Amino acid sequence: MSSLEKMPNWLLNRAYLTPNRKALVFKDKELTFKELCDYSLSMARKLTACGIKRGDRTAVLLNNHMDFVLVLYALQLIGCPVVLLNVRLTNRELAFQIDDSEAVHLITQMEFESIAVKLNGQTGIHTIYKEQLIAANEVDFEIVTEFNLQDVCTIMYTSGTTGFPKGVIQSFGNHWWSAIGSALNLGLHDQDAWLAAVPLFHASGFSILVRSMVYGIPVILFEKFDEQQINLALMEGKATIISVVTSMLQNMIRDLGEKTYSPSFRCMLIGGGPVPLSLLQVCKNKNIPVFQTYGMTETASQIVTLTPEDSLAKLGSAGKPLFFCQVRIDKDGVAAMPNEIGEIVVKGPNVTYGYYNREDANKRSFTNDGWFYTGDVGYMDEDGFLFVIDRRSDLIISGGENIYPAEIENIILSHPAIKEAAVIGMDDETWGQVPCAFYVVANNAEISGEQLAQFCQPHLAKYKVPKKWIQINELPKTASNKVMRKSLSKFLS
Ligand code: ATP
Ligand code: MG
Repeated sequence: MSSLEKMPNWLLNRAYLTPNRKALVFKDKELTFKELCDYSLSMARKLTACGIKRGDRTAVLLNNHMDFVLVLYALQLIGCPVVLLNVRLTNRELAFQIDDSEAVHLITQMEFESIAVKLNGQTGIHTIYKEQLIAANEVDFEIVTEFNLQDVCTIMYTSGTTGFPKGVIQSFGNHWWSAIGSALNLGLHDQDAWLAAVPLFHASGFSILVRSMVYGIPVILFEKFDEQQINLALMEGKATIISVVTSMLQNMIRDLGEKTYSPSFRCMLIGGGPVPLSLLQVCKNKNIPVFQTYGMTETASQIVTLTPEDSLAKLGSAGKPLFFCQVRIDKDGVAAMPNEIGEIVVKGPNVTYGYYNREDANKRSFTNDGWFYTGDVGYMDEDGFLFVIDRRSDLIISGGENIYPAEIENIILSHPAIKEAAVIGMDDETWGQVPCAFYVVANNAEISGEQLAQFCQPHLAKYKVPKKWIQINELPKTASNKVMRKSLSKFLS
């Protein structure tokens, strides 16, 4: 094996190179890299005492907390691939992911005891509660001092927005290159600190931990998203970068009002789903440095991100690929022209080598020379900037015209009375399909479908204006809080 494929264990190396730098802040606790390493080693010895050994695939079901970070690093020190479970999943979904990933241990917390007991009954998995670990003995083990970049670091399931979640195999190399690519794009500043209020079990959160170790910067970790507390932290200059999704940013902007963030705050990295142009515009007017990014579990977070210098000129674009990544648009098997819509295809060292136990999906999505078909549609403009439009599977074809639901949702969402909107195709005798809109009003506002259709007319071609409007209390969402358009069709029958 070439030495290029090996590097020192990230945490051990940080504790050696920059022991006294701040590494992790959680509530009123602060740890340096040395302390973080010592605590993680202690956690690893406790996990060893509980029977965890090198190579054991270990599932983790935990809320964001300092202990979660210690458990993750401890498992890296022991040498266990980690299956990251979403705490909002149902019992059935969790049991599926445990079985599917072939995990042998589950580390969780007493808060999830009733779920864990059921999971143990369903899958026979050996369960350890983090609360038990406090009193556990410490047993020495052989520390993993080197990471092999080919080895599996994590298995993370996709959100299941378009179908059944798939287990994505993420190697140490995938995470390493993801962190390096982000730094080459956003730069690394002296006082950088990354605020993590997104779940650590998602690529968005986990990748912040990796960046912290690779760059030697602190993570400001939040148990959950709270716009007031987070705005306060950013106003006080506690973090220079934050990762958010659209709904978080919307709440933060609403809470922020006329107040402003600290001048040291330099990047609001937004991804995970479409961002309404109206929201980007509001941020632009408020001088909030928003950077759109496009990525997915399969790319271990970002693969395309807007650079600071283009953030205003290319509003609405997800940017250009990270330095060593490539993006192309495939239109019916050939390269699309600039501005021509097709499937987004990506390649890079941060892209997974495949889904666990999903031969069919692997054959469909990956080519032999390393390209990954994302299932998303978009286009590149004449300057090579990517614009993500929508999921390929949600395309509506009406009288031969392609309609992308996100375009219509964007317009509906720009109406002040609207909180959430989703558009799907509805069978139609004349046109094959026509768009149908579901909407949730903001603050008990009263608005009819007819009024909304009128509102859309100046912005959308006639065939794109929804023909049916259905008001509902809440849109169905995945455990990752993404709208599941697919499950709306039941309201149509
Ligand atoms: P599944 O693959 O199981 O259907 P999912 O695709 O929602 O679930 P994730 O990996 O969590 O699972 O999400 C990645 C997806 O999120 C992308 O493929 C894309 O559809 C969407 N996405 C990410 N960033 C953006 C963006 N900037 N604009 C639009 N959509 C985005
Ligand atoms: Mg996906």
